[in-house]
Amino acid sequence: MDWSDGVFPTTREGALARWAEFLPRAGAYGSLRNRVEPGHPHVSRLSPAIRGRLVTTSELVESLFAAHPFGRVEKLVQELLWRDYWKGWLEMRPSIWTTYRRELDPLKRHGDPAILERAAEVMAGRGGIAVMDRFARELIETGYLHNHARMWWAGYWIHIERLPWELGADFFYRHLLDADPASNTLGWRWVAGLQTRGKAYLPRRSNLEKYCAPAWLADTTGLDRLDDDVVRILELPWQAHPPCQPWRPLPERPELPEGRWGLWIHGEDLTPELSALGGLHPECVLTVLDEPLMRTLGLSEARVAYIRDPLADARTRAAAHFGCPVEQRAQGGFAAHLTAVARERRLDGWIAMRPAVGPLGDAMEGIESALGSEGLRIHWCRRRWDELRWPRASSGFFGFWEKVRERLSEGVRTDPSQGLLPL
Ligand SMILES: Cc1cc2nc3c(=O)[nH]c(=O)nc-3n(C[C@H](O)[C@H](O)[C@H](O)COP(=O)(O)OP(=O)(O)OC[C@H]3O[C@@H](n4cnc5c(N)ncnc54)[C@H](O)[C@@H]3O)c2cc1C
Repeated sequence: MDWSDGVFPTTREGALARWAEFLPRAGAYGSLRNRVEPGHPHVSRLSPAIRGRLVTTSELVESLFAAHPFGRVEKLVQELLWRDYWKGWLEMRPSIWTTYRRELDPLKRHGDPAILERAAEVMAGRGGIAVMDRFARELIETGYLHNHARMWWAGYWIHIERLPWELGADFFYRHLLDADPASNTLGWRWVAGLQTRGKAYLPRRSNLEKYCAPAWLADTTGLDRLDDDVVRILELPWQAHPPCQPWRPLPERPELPEGRWGLWIHGEDLTPELSALGGLHPECVLTVLDEPLMRTLGLSEARVAYIRDPLADARTRAAAHFGCPVEQRAQGGFAAHLTAVARERRLDGWIAMRPAVGPLGDAMEGIESALGSEGLRIHWCRRRWDELRWPRASSGFFGFWEKVRERLSEGVRTDPSQGLLPL
């Protein structure tokens, strides 16, 4: 199969070039975005870069406004903001993530062998519905699936195969280059009917025939299992969402006491030099490739490479911008390296963007306590863009959208001499 279109930029420069190429077509996004076609020409394919903040939503929104009337690009802006919505929603309900991760492990290790065997077949692209098997292979081989294909495939897994949604979400998480704890976990929960009461997503043959490339449906093997009058929803018991945790604001730039501070750059934000942190003068910059964590999560090789390579790009840019020593550590956890490098460079501690809920977020407690036991500190920051939007994701998306729509330019700054400044 030809996956030659599945190339994803691992540098900021590459991501900006992809965006520049897509921007003129952004006006057609609203009407064409649901089509799943070879090369995925109707969508940006920028999600891995957006996930790691090689490019920021604020600069994408800003350039859309500069290139098109709002009405032509509203749908795309709305989709970009879906990401912020999911991030904010999960940030205020972290137990959804921790419960999912806690239940996943026993399910994988001690689940019903018949279920695990069937799950393995479906993941390997041997489920028996040709088009779904094709999507499984596309995910494994490219690390990407179109949004509509993600919905079809997750719906097929849950409602047709009747497999546990947690195993399917984990399969996506291990392979997607854009794997995001919020968009992925909540996307799966939404398809399963656990996110919005009374709403689940069913993959129907008529919908595939309307939106999927005919060539990908030419092999009709198993398609009758998706016939509109055959598909049946799997009703999962509804559980009320946990209450929203109060929002804890963070500064976009810390008030640093006198001392020697390093900047820790991680995969949740690869462009700190283009944030309020850009004005800092750190003693050093550190990136860490936490290989044990990546192994525990079972990430695919492509995903590991997509963590490693953008980090290398971040180091190159940071070296040019901050003009201080920049180093990379691997083969150990974040806490151990942050502590060791701080000791070696006689630092008082670190400044870093605060990771959102997810594996990196889970590591924060260990990092804080390891640093604390050495008398070191870490100052967490958050971009203004997130600080202004994420706390508004307390209930449904459309309420969130109404709140943020009128004030989309808030947190987006332009500097005529330098172009866009992503916040
Ligand atoms: C089951 C399921 C799992 C998903 N898992 C992830 C994930 O792990 N990581 C991830 O980034 N997205 C996830 N999504 C959302 C969406 O499918 C991808 O963001 C989108 O397909 C990425 O392709 P693109 O960059 O070409 O998107 P475009 O259509 O070009 O959209 C531009 C950007 O808007 C954002 N966006 C678009 N649609 C959505 C959406 N529905 N939800 C959240 N953000 C959106 C993304 O940042 C995307 O890059 C998931 C959706 C489903 C249904």
